[in-house]
Amino acid sequence: MSHRVTLIPGDGIGPEVVEATRRVVEATGVAIEWDRQEMGAGAFARTGSPLPGATLDSIRGTGVALKGPVETPITSGMRSVNVTLRQDLDLYACVRPCRRYPGVPSVYGDVDLIVVRENTEGMYTGIEFAMGEPDTKELLRFIEAATGRRIREDSGVSIKTISREGSERIVRYAFELARARGRHRVTASHKANIMKVTDGVFLEVARVVAASYADLAFDDRIIDALCMELIRTPERFDVLVMPNLYGDVVSDLGAGLIGGLGVAPGGHLGDTMAVFEATHGTAPRLAGRNLANPVGLMLSGAMLLRHLAEGEAGDRLEAAVAAILADGTHVTRDLREPGDDRPPATTVGVADAVVSALVG
Ligand code: NAD
Repeated sequence: MSHRVTLIPGDGIGPEVVEATRRVVEATGVAIEWDRQEMGAGAFARTGSPLPGATLDSIRGTGVALKGPVETPITSGMRSVNVTLRQDLDLYACVRPCRRYPGVPSVYGDVDLIVVRENTEGMYTGIEFAMGEPDTKELLRFIEAATGRRIREDSGVSIKTISREGSERIVRYAFELARARGRHRVTASHKANIMKVTDGVFLEVARVVAASYADLAFDDRIIDALCMELIRTPERFDVLVMPNLYGDVVSDLGAGLIGGLGVAPGGHLGDTMAVFEATHGTAPRLAGRNLANPVGLMLSGAMLLRHLAEGEAGDRLEAAVAAILADGTHVTRDLREPGDDRPPATTVGVADAVVSALVG
């Protein structure tokens, strides 16, 4: 049976890493019918929308997409095309595995954790009041009347919301993921000591959900303490779950622990749809030069295959990528240790090597 998957090349290095990943996913032998769609600055220039309705319709139809990074054009009127996509499709769970593969330069030896980030609320509701606007002034007056606290008039306001329902589904997602992957512990991170009515709800719900997973250990960390511990002893962590902004920051921190943005995969998942993309952005300096590291997206491709119930093919793809990384001959410049004079591979060169490892 052939799977239908939406393919979004995106902007900057996107088309290059997406093409490299399409090739290696196909080399696993899994039959995929790709539905190519547009999104981002290029889509805005061509169609007048950074997130055309046809792209959303395609993902709603196929249920799954492989996506390159995109840039949100300032003139499009959209705050973030990525946040809009995740909210429109209710892709509430962002999953970022951070595994250190042998051969990848990193100061850390043994890191194998998964960051699960809430994707639809928290600090990224997208509800904002700009400095000096009439609505903002009215909001500031309301806050002063309600709380007796005066906020400076030259303030902008971003609204943070955390709901019981949103917290429950993301924490449950993290526990189910932990169980499915044979993991042992879920750690919730928050700032409940300061933000009692938002992060406090998240923590309270996390504790209740944790009680229904007796087979898995649970603990929690204040986000600043977690960052410190992750830098000192990342090997102690297993599955991490946290609200939106913290997850955004910690997943890049996690990428740093395992060798950088070039090797960090991810997926955005809801109950009925999923979009797989690497952690990195459009890397404009590298765009169009055949220099970008496609490994982050290739590992996202392995996640996509597992999502399609092609777990054996996903495992083979991950193993092929891991073998290329361990060998170290066919890797891009970002993975070269200082003093290693071997010529770096191109984006296409990495794809050729992974395809050979899969079919050879
Ligand atoms: P970035 O990830 O594009 O680049 C950060 C650094 O990492 C740069 O030095 C870059 O050269 C390097 N890098 C990133 N990916 C790499 C790869 N695959 N191989 C080798 N080196 C790589 O982050 P940025 O500069 O903050 O953002 C650039 C643009 O990307 C912005 O418009 C931003 O909004 C967008 N962005 C999009 C997404 C997404 O679509 N998911 C995510 C993050 C950033």
